Amino acid sequence: MEGAYSPARAPVLILLGPPGAGKGTQARMLEERFGLVQLSTGDMLRAAVAAGSKAGTEAKAVMEAGGLVSDRIVLDILADRLSQPDCAKGVVLDGFPRTTGQAKALDALLAEAGQQVDTAIALEVDDVKMVTRIAGRYTCAGCGEGYHDSFKVPKVEGTCDHCGGREMKRRADDNAKTVMSRLDAYHAQTAPLIEYYAEKGTLKRVDAMGPIEEISGQIARLVAAATA
Ligand code: ADP
Ligand code: ZN
Repeated sequence: MEGAYSPARAPVLILLGPPGAGKGTQARMLEERFGLVQLSTGDMLRAAVAAGSKAGTEAKAVMEAGGLVSDRIVLDILADRLSQPDCAKGVVLDGFPRTTGQAKALDALLAEAGQQVDTAIALEVDDVKMVTRIAGRYTCAGCGEGYHDSFKVPKVEGTCDHCGGREMKRRADDNAKTVMSRLDAYHAQTAPLIEYYAEKGTLKRVDAMGPIEEISGQIARLVAAATA
């Protein structure tokens, strides 16, 4: 049947890396090139904060301090989103899992559906440079395309290349002070996941310090090979 969903072939990909490594940028690339659904727990949490939901109210202060929101809240939000029908196309998880508890819960959740994590891609970067990257970044309010004051400016100033929108926004937690806490949280709680996926044999490492297109090319080749 044309267009029929074939669960065995819908990939589950994970992007790992510190804040500023480019997970969101590369997740969007994978969405466009491979028709995957980008699942960003950061975006979901920001939406919950904006909506003023119970989870959002609880998450707000932790996010502003650059800490990690509790596994319970994140897993609730993620499981709910993952159960929606569009995710059957395959997903790229961006910013999740971030703790060993989340990684194990994800494995259990996928196992229930007869699935597993296919590839975990670790974006390897120089921490020190992440502070400048984050402090200069902003996104299009209309479509979410990411930009940067020094590394990726729109072709026409103030206008989104992608959707033509003219409203750009910067995240409340993208300041030098919060970034340090986010980097600490990454090293303490998330970096151990690199070993977790290496042991399972699903880890691929990508040098993510070069030009965006080059990194995208490398990741696209990895994903094409993994989903062939
Ligand atoms: P970045 O990776 O650039 O720090 P995100 O948008 O992924 O940005 O996350 C922003 C904030 O949202 C994090 O600092 C954290 O407080 C919270 N967050 C996002 N995903 C998770 C998660 N999986 N577990 C716990 N907290 C999360
Ligand atoms: Zn846009």
